[in-house]
Amino acid sequence: MALRTFRSVTLGAATLAAALVLPHASLARPAAKPAPAPVVQPAANAPKLIVAISIDQFSADLFAQYRSLFTGGLARLATGAVFPAGYQSHAATETCPGHSTILTGVHPARTGIIANTWIDQSVARAKKTVYCAEDETKAAADPKDYVASVGHLLVPTLGERVKALWPTSRNVAVSGKDRAALMMGGHVIDSVYWWKGAGFTSLDGRPLTPAALNENKALADVLAQGAPELPLPDWCSAKSRAVTAGTMTVGTGRFALAPGDKNAFRASPRLDRATVDLATELVDENKLGKGPTPDVLSVSLSVTDYVGHAYGTEGSEMCIQLQQLDLALGDFFIALDQRGIDYAVVLTADHGGFDLPERLGEQALPASHRVSKSLLPEALSAAVAAKTGLDAKGLVLSDGASGDIWLRRDLSPADKARALEALKAELLANPDVAAAFTAEEIAASPAPSGSPETWPLIARAKASFYKPLSGDVVLMLKRGVVPIPTPGPGYVATHGSPWDYDRRVPILFWRKGMTGFEQPSPVETVDIAPTLAALIGLPVPAGAFDGRCLDLDAGTGDTCGAKP
Ligand SMILES: [Zn+2]
Repeated sequence: MALRTFRSVTLGAATLAAALVLPHASLARPAAKPAPAPVVQPAANAPKLIVAISIDQFSADLFAQYRSLFTGGLARLATGAVFPAGYQSHAATETCPGHSTILTGVHPARTGIIANTWIDQSVARAKKTVYCAEDETKAAADPKDYVASVGHLLVPTLGERVKALWPTSRNVAVSGKDRAALMMGGHVIDSVYWWKGAGFTSLDGRPLTPAALNENKALADVLAQGAPELPLPDWCSAKSRAVTAGTMTVGTGRFALAPGDKNAFRASPRLDRATVDLATELVDENKLGKGPTPDVLSVSLSVTDYVGHAYGTEGSEMCIQLQQLDLALGDFFIALDQRGIDYAVVLTADHGGFDLPERLGEQALPASHRVSKSLLPEALSAAVAAKTGLDAKGLVLSDGASGDIWLRRDLSPADKARALEALKAELLANPDVAAAFTAEEIAASPAPSGSPETWPLIARAKASFYKPLSGDVVLMLKRGVVPIPTPGPGYVATHGSPWDYDRRVPILFWRKGMTGFEQPSPVETVDIAPTLAALIGLPVPAGAFDGRCLDLDAGTGDTCGAKP
């Protein structure tokens, strides 16, 4: 336990502020003198390890569809406190915003993570598209390979709050995606890994530890040799049916891995298994769950998302993926049991998902279709230029056919007002469009309140609106309109809409010995951090969370009452 030494503890905003400005604090602190007792003790019954799991693109619909078939880790969690109607309440249902809500307890409007990518015309480099998990001030030297960073996240995560109060606590994160690991882990983190190319990697300046080196070595062998198809469970056979989307045919895949095919590896259940294996090794390496104060381990499993994008949600591929994921999670929990760790699990998702329109059309949803190319920025630029006489070049900027849209920043206020009016009229006249709100309209709208399922569209937009970064207009497509004009390899279906198929995710809490219950009423992913904070007795300043504590005691007890 030599690495677990106390620093002097000061409470409150200063500590949290310090946590934010001390990026990537060093893990090792030399043991000097006996540690003083922490000022605030963890709750008497606090678990020693919080395991926060996000399954990327694991919609409430997929959970409902497969729930009765799980036998592994997901079956275990379904015996705990089950909230089948969790909400990523905001409109921008993408990976980075979604992950940013889970352990911060606030909507993207406060995390500052408005999308996976946005356009910032003020950045110095030529490329104005900014990735949510990059340090764009360092990207000029090599625009194709960004520098991973959590600098855009404006608020601390649960793991950071825990470490700020209890310096003996560890904060560790691992994922198939950098943005997922970084948004769940945050700024001050002991160990953080994600998949990149052909192995797990970490932030610049952090050498890989033996856990990652071991896992990468094992994976290099798998990649070099390839692997056979995965078995098709009986309950997947009805789903194994080919469907055509453009030049693509999907629906019957079984994840055979050709030697050296890194992309196929990434979009196969094997990456989730590897992520879980590394998580287990990181538990040992960081002695998680063995210290005097609670640790936080974030695990984001990316393959469900890659499978959803590449093959849709209703074919053999997703069915096999969810079976394999359930088994991998089962093995992970058994590994934690074997270590004698008192742990509590929360599992949720960063957003839901939607099938490809070609299969939806065959399966009773003929209104679903691919978005018109007339909503892409080039077409919108031409249309707005024709209406206003402004130069069309770069007039309308966006990252696709939905979400944030920007106008060229050098327009005079009068020209910008004319362009904005023309753009909004053009959007609203398009049959694929449900709504288009200007930044002013969103800023002036009331703060979201009440059950997220009944929020008006503009409230959903407001929950992922952050004025310094958000677009001049936020575009919402009609329900069922898929924002991929042309399907291609790895990308036939997606998420990102303000509709409930993309907003609703399961939220499951589990701890050994707990009495399970089911609460079908809507809750939010921003409720997770306050729930866990109360569970471990972590005091948090008033107003720090958008969410509320969920009482995980099925009876008259109240896990929210544990707050000091
Ligand atoms: Zn995602």
